[in-house]
Amino acid sequence: MDHFTTKGGVMHAEDVPLPRIAAAVGTPVYVYSRATLERHARVFQEALAEVPDKLVAFAVKSNPNLAVLKVLGRQGMGADVVSVGEMRRALAAGIAPEMIVFSGVGKTAAELVAALEAGIGQFNIESEEEGVELAEIAAARGMTAQCTLRINPDVDAGTHDKISTGKADNKFGVPIGEAGQIFGTLSRLPGINLRGVAVHIGSQLADLAPLEAAFGKLGALVGALRGAGHTITHVDLGGGLGVPYRVGEVLPEPAAYGAMVARVTKDWGVKLIFEPGRVIAGNAGVLLTRVVRVKRGIKDPFVIVDAAMNDLARPALYGAYHHFEAVEPTGARMTANIVGPICETGDTFAMGRECDLLEAGDLAVFRTAGAYGATMASSYNSRGFVAEVLVDGDKFAVVADRIEAGAIMDAERVPEWLD
Ligand SMILES: *Cc1c(COP(=O)(O)O)cnc(C)c1O
Repeated sequence: MDHFTTKGGVMHAEDVPLPRIAAAVGTPVYVYSRATLERHARVFQEALAEVPDKLVAFAVKSNPNLAVLKVLGRQGMGADVVSVGEMRRALAAGIAPEMIVFSGVGKTAAELVAALEAGIGQFNIESEEEGVELAEIAAARGMTAQCTLRINPDVDAGTHDKISTGKADNKFGVPIGEAGQIFGTLSRLPGINLRGVAVHIGSQLADLAPLEAAFGKLGALVGALRGAGHTITHVDLGGGLGVPYRVGEVLPEPAAYGAMVARVTKDWGVKLIFEPGRVIAGNAGVLLTRVVRVKRGIKDPFVIVDAAMNDLARPALYGAYHHFEAVEPTGARMTANIVGPICETGDTFAMGRECDLLEAGDLAVFRTAGAYGATMASSYNSRGFVAEVLVDGDKFAVVADRIEAGAIMDAERVPEWLD
């Protein structure tokens, strides 16, 4: 459930009509709903009520906006970060260091040092090499890093190839068949306390079965590690729960996920860590855009909007579907190709899409844009970075300024020897 609804013929975010935001901030602009973020956080946490000891760490990469992190931090969420840049955002939003988990396959030595010095709660080590390096860095400082070892369980998440992370040939984690031996090697090193295992098999999962398969393998591994004399107190189950992008699409509810987790993990006797991203932020945001022009096509017309693949990359990256609708629908419909202004055919949001009838100057939204939206923006075609707005009841605030193309150009230099 979200708080983007049409009232009196005009789409609102909570109690704010979207045309008011477009008039004040311009388009394209991401619009997030505080009530929706809070609702999603609450529903996810309530779904895990039967898990006695847990940390829910929001996957910052899905939406790293400081105001969004502030809202979620106040809901009791920690942060799953994949760079020091994300760690600094989580800390700046007031999330306690001990509630921060650091994932990622290529943490640099400088990042490991910064995270150690910040006192984060957990490092999810992705290779034997990384574990050895972290142990040396921590031991040299007389510190102990709290760690889990990320396991690649060789499970097909059944999602898009580019967001699958748990198959044997993906770059993430250590192969489950070598996990026991690597765990043994790393657990003997000073500087790290290897206290558990972690898994994250992919994103936008439409089915709980691959998750259950991965968790089952992890449970067996925990048993084997304990059998080998290791103390296992923490297991990180990652994120990945999918969200509906299409009207009427049905995905596993957080409650069903929570029930499955409670059942599979009931005898583990560990603290569980969760890293949800999309399921919290996805449907808490829309990308508000204005129609530049409608161009005649060979078959269907092209509705050219002022948002483009640099603002919302998912359709170009993954062929992803985003529901598209008018802010002030008249009831009339059309079939159109929805495209942005960028000089790439990849800058296409949809072909042959049935949608509300739109004309030049009309406002429209791409829904389910709160996760992996603004965070993936670029300045391709010298378009600048899109603005972001947070709505709370009948008020709204700009929570990320539009960064104009000129400001990006100002950071560039022409050396004097070219003049
Ligand atoms: C991306 C990512 C997540 C979040 O995935 P969602 O599908 O957004 O829930 C969690 N953990 C790790 C390690 C990730 O890379």
